[in-house]
Amino acid sequence: MTARSPELEILEIKNDTITFILSNTDISVANALRRVMIAEVPTMCIDLVEFEANNSVLCDEFIAHRLGLIPLISEEVNRFNYTRDCSCSERCDNCSVEFRLHVKCTDDKARDVTSSDLISQNDMVIPVSSAQSLNHNNNTPDRPEQEIPIVKLRKGQELKLKAIAKKGVGKEHAKWIPACVATYQFQPHIVINQNRLDELSDKQKEDWVASCPAKVYSYVPHQRNQVTIEDPLRCMYCMECKKKADTYGKPDLVTIEQKTDRFIFTVETTGALKPEDIVLYAIQIIKRKLTDIQTQLQTQIQEG
Ligand SMILES: [Zn+2]
Repeated sequence: MTARSPELEILEIKNDTITFILSNTDISVANALRRVMIAEVPTMCIDLVEFEANNSVLCDEFIAHRLGLIPLISEEVNRFNYTRDCSCSERCDNCSVEFRLHVKCTDDKARDVTSSDLISQNDMVIPVSSAQSLNHNNNTPDRPEQEIPIVKLRKGQELKLKAIAKKGVGKEHAKWIPACVATYQFQPHIVINQNRLDELSDKQKEDWVASCPAKVYSYVPHQRNQVTIEDPLRCMYCMECKKKADTYGKPDLVTIEQKTDRFIFTVETTGALKPEDIVLYAIQIIKRKLTDIQTQLQTQIQEG
């Protein structure tokens, strides 16, 4: 077996998702990429909240937790230091971003406090869903911009706080994970046995095609190749078509196998980073880890 060099083919990029095929490699490499995307690609998140006033129905800890989970646009995250690595004593503009929130309800009608009420001191790091980010990022037509609710205030209730966002990774706390979906599946390899298919009646063919919930096959009556594989990538290995074939007494009507060296990835962003950037940063991180090992090895060899 010769050495392989992995390849990547993009199938689709949307504002919030990327799908691509990673091929010519092993499951260990595919899984390393998936895990680094989840656990080690940094983003910015609220990590410290100082309350000045809160007589809402939710306690301070509850609101602080909710604030931490609001995704912040983190495209400039690489400009920031981790607070633990920064040269400052507590925190500075190089390792944190300050947010202010002050809402008081004076109406009889309840007031929703949302991510739009969080005012950032740094235009580059703002909540993903807010009026501020709508102006910042007007190229997101397919993502409904909805503000994220934090708490409801009744008349006379007030919420005033200062929140500090810091750089972090998903390993420390799930709030820093940039992807809400990061999965892969083996590429399906589907073959229909044409001889067996010819033995079926038109009604049976139609029913067999309809048995697939993912609509992998298509059936066109009165044509020579009535049954075709429309999109093998839709297959989710539920094997409903195999079960249906068994009821006809034709277990060899179709074979479905997994190509164990081709992985179809789907990555959906929380909005913190562009989906393609999550993949790029993850590859950079894997590369940096390998370079670090190389350097360590070289140093130890030189030191004898
Ligand atoms: Zn600092």
